Amino acid sequence: MHLSDAHCHLQDPRLQDTLTDTLRECRARGIHRWMVNATREADWAAVTTLATTEPGVHASYGLHPWWQAERSPHWACHLEMLLKQHPEAALGETGLDRWMKNPNIEDQIRVLEEHLELSRTLDRPITLHCLKAWPELAACLKRSPPSKKGFLLHSYAGPEAQIEGWVRAGAFFSLSPGFLHPRNAARRAAFTKVPLERLLLETDAPDMPPPETLAILRLKREDSQHLNHPANLALCLDAVAADRGMRPEKLVLQVEKNASCAFGWV
Ligand SMILES: [Zn+2]
Repeated sequence: MHLSDAHCHLQDPRLQDTLTDTLRECRARGIHRWMVNATREADWAAVTTLATTEPGVHASYGLHPWWQAERSPHWACHLEMLLKQHPEAALGETGLDRWMKNPNIEDQIRVLEEHLELSRTLDRPITLHCLKAWPELAACLKRSPPSKKGFLLHSYAGPEAQIEGWVRAGAFFSLSPGFLHPRNAARRAAFTKVPLERLLLETDAPDMPPPETLAILRLKREDSQHLNHPANLALCLDAVAADRGMRPEKLVLQVEKNASCAFGWV
């Protein structure tokens, strides 16, 4: 089996102590590609290091809404330069978030539109985060469309009724292990409405862990909770296969094709 993690944060400081073992455990389970998303200017260099030293790691650069307040005045120039230095790199994670504490949605929109413009002018795929800001996201994409290559709505938690519209706009959708909690049953069920050729699988590791009883491997956290091990990607494959009445071996071929198509991977 060859499986790609369409969205994760392997550069996260919480993973660094055990990263060599973690990647070995993933590879032993057939996970061979990772789209590693930066979240803030301060981690762009760490993403570059991973992408240039670890086979199968692909870089994606951006500012996550939670970390935009700490950006430098030159962040957009810095981002453009980085993308030009790395022609294979993608954009993200970026997006809109009204769920966070004290969101500054006007500022988030400004930052998102800079990313969208770079996606369009440099023709790069882009990964979007959206929580409780779907009308604003739709308006941004209308005003400032991303590259025609398409975009990924990672951990899609929007209304099921809007999936069709997002498909027409060119979206890919990825399901993460956090959606396997019973409390997220409706979000998981919405994925059955995503056309098969637009479906990707992700972990968002080290965040969005599955229910602890399902976890394939666990990473301990100091506060007795557990982090999401990227080997949990296989849980997403099994869940989607079960929900669609497909064999995982058949589904994996389709989602791998989709990942290559979404990110321009050869
Ligand atoms: Zn993420």
